[in-house]
Amino acid sequence: MYQPSPDKFGIVFDAGSSHTSLYVYQWPAHKENDTGIVSQIHMCEVPGSGISSYVDDPAQAGEVLKSCMDEALSLIPSQQHKETTVLLGATAGMRLLRLQNETKTHLILDAVSKTLRLYPVDFQGARILDGMEEGSFGWITVNYLLGTFIQHSYINSWIHPQQAMFGAMDLGGASTQMTFQPSGDIEDNSTKMFFRLYGFDYSIYTHSYLCYGQDQAMKIFLAYLIEVNTTSGNVKNPCYPNGYKAIVTLSSVYNSPCVSTFPGDIGANITVEGTGDPSECQMAIKNIFNFSECSNKSCSFNGIYQPPVHGKFYAFSAFYYTFNFLNLTYGQPLSFTNSSVWMYCTREWNELSASYPTENKKRLLEYCTSAMYILTLLVHGYKFNSESWNNIRFSKQAGNADVGWTLGYMLNMTNKIPSEGPSFLKAHF
Ligand code: AMP
Repeated sequence: MYQPSPDKFGIVFDAGSSHTSLYVYQWPAHKENDTGIVSQIHMCEVPGSGISSYVDDPAQAGEVLKSCMDEALSLIPSQQHKETTVLLGATAGMRLLRLQNETKTHLILDAVSKTLRLYPVDFQGARILDGMEEGSFGWITVNYLLGTFIQHSYINSWIHPQQAMFGAMDLGGASTQMTFQPSGDIEDNSTKMFFRLYGFDYSIYTHSYLCYGQDQAMKIFLAYLIEVNTTSGNVKNPCYPNGYKAIVTLSSVYNSPCVSTFPGDIGANITVEGTGDPSECQMAIKNIFNFSECSNKSCSFNGIYQPPVHGKFYAFSAFYYTFNFLNLTYGQPLSFTNSSVWMYCTREWNELSASYPTENKKRLLEYCTSAMYILTLLVHGYKFNSESWNNIRFSKQAGNADVGWTLGYMLNMTNKIPSEGPSFLKAHF
């Protein structure tokens, strides 16, 4: 009697700077190398903050993974557990910690590995992805989910879609990645990745900007405001809403390798006051980028080479969260997006708090800064204009899964994207 082969499963932990998430993927075993057949069946948010925050109690970084891991395994038939690949990838939060204290980084990775080894699964290790991997795996995820590598045609054969590849833009808490297939040459080899997937060659441009994730950029920005307001101990922030006032400890700003050391007493407090002035806000945010230095043919910012943007793009993670909050994920033109952000930035703190009583207060406070930061990064950094802006899709999902680097990482680690395509495809070459 015909017995269909059982489905297979994979589990990936995304150990981000601000939090860790777990994803469970499923696919039919006999279609292992087909494209677009892996689906996401579960997502779990690990309690607490990112693993890099457990510097003083590494064992706890492992402990907190257990609830999500138990939940994930309860969804997978027990006879499949042994063959279930489990991966943990850490990103820029851990890259930053490694810059500060390599020993503590190892202790945390050892602790999470120790916990995951307790489970009867095929644990393939916990490691820090480098920025180019993070960008490339995001790009692979997007194009795999959208079926741009290869598609099954109606005459039951594989075809290479004529459709161009999608670029991927990821805004995390501690880094941001820009990845796409340019129309011309990639002139700086340190930004070039080469893949042969399903019988086709891809040269992609990718760069990860450490410290330009949303939370770290916010620290750099506050440090800049503190620097230009040194005298009073009272800092005016044009990107915070008018009517907002709070006491901030300097150590909460200067506790990162992304921010230069504070020249005075780091134990001191300052008062930060919002002025809700979008034009001042935009001018101030531009100061955390260097748009003038460039020894290459073309640059994004800080002297980093970037060829002209080309094709359609998916913008996910915090690009999506911020624009989703502002209702700007429906393909609105750049001019409309600009004016919506401008309007949000003029709203009073009391009015905002009353209008969004359930929204996390820190996020509500920072949406103007985030949105202005995103606009500055995309328009002045990556050089999207009012025309190419229309090619950006702000989205959390594509096809049947969340967009991020995790699926691409799993596909790569389990060799699910063959370098040679099905024989029908190869016959064309
Ligand atoms: P991570 O995925 O941990 O690297 O976080 C990316 C950034 O998005 C961080 O700055 C988070 O604070 C922010 N973030 C995560 N989830 C949300 C959400 N639901 N709404 C708004 N911002 C978010």
